[in-house]
Amino acid sequence: MSQMGDDAQQSVSWEDFGAEQERVRVLRQFISDVSHDLRTPLTIINSAAYMLQLKVEDAEQQQLVERIRAQVRRLDQIIDDMFTMTTLDLASPDETYRTVDLNELGQALYHEFSAVAQQKDLTLAFFPGSVQLLMADGTHLWRALSNLVINAINYTPPGGRIVLSTYVNQDGVVFEVTDTGIGIPAEDLPRIFDRFYRADKARQTSTGGSGLGLSIARRIVEYHNGRIEVESTPGKGSTFRVILPTLKHLIAAEQRRKQQEEG
Ligand code: ADP
Repeated sequence: MSQMGDDAQQSVSWEDFGAEQERVRVLRQFISDVSHDLRTPLTIINSAAYMLQLKVEDAEQQQLVERIRAQVRRLDQIIDDMFTMTTLDLASPDETYRTVDLNELGQALYHEFSAVAQQKDLTLAFFPGSVQLLMADGTHLWRALSNLVINAINYTPPGGRIVLSTYVNQDGVVFEVTDTGIGIPAEDLPRIFDRFYRADKARQTSTGGSGLGLSIARRIVEYHNGRIEVESTPGKGSTFRVILPTLKHLIAAEQRRKQQEEG
């Protein structure tokens, strides 16, 4: 009797799983089609705005055209994030794993974002620690970490400081992004990793994100058996910590788990 019940339950959950996969496939196809259809007019608007910008001499009009171009970039980013999100829902992670040096990624991120930070009058620093190589998808990891750096830049007022660092702790190799920005209210902290969640609705249009950056970052980090921690004080700043276990850390965690079970 109990056996039959278990079987019935299992077949229902496999059906649910199949239906969910199908929903994701349809959604992915839809987003893929829509993003293609939206990108073409966006590219045309952007080139037209660029041509206009070259012709316009009045400073105020220049600013207006720049606003159009900034919003086009934003829409482009939203489409890109939505597409990445659906791709991640389907991807099988381990095929693209290679050895990755987190310090090389940190150095590359530092170079990529120094100029943007400087434009906003922010100091960006990178302090590499002595960390082991990881088996990881470097492209995905870049995306996850760059989302954290972009956020730090977006949510730190001019004059602030952003520090990237790497080190090792008990659970793995750590990549940390600390900023002296506006911080996140305690009540928002549990939700910032949700898709499309943005802490302060009033800031939505000015900062330009899609509300998908952190959920993409978390998804990628979880693919690597890692986790993201956040600590934040409103008005003072935030620290995002990506912890990625190496094989050695996974074995040690498994041993600790077994010891706890036995003891
Ligand atoms: P987006 O930045 O596109 O809005 P994210 O998913 O990257 O979306 O972030 C979700 C929300 O978390 C942001 O809207 C913002 O309110 C908050 N947030 C993320 N990073 C930071 C940070 N470093 N400092 C302050 N708030 C942050």
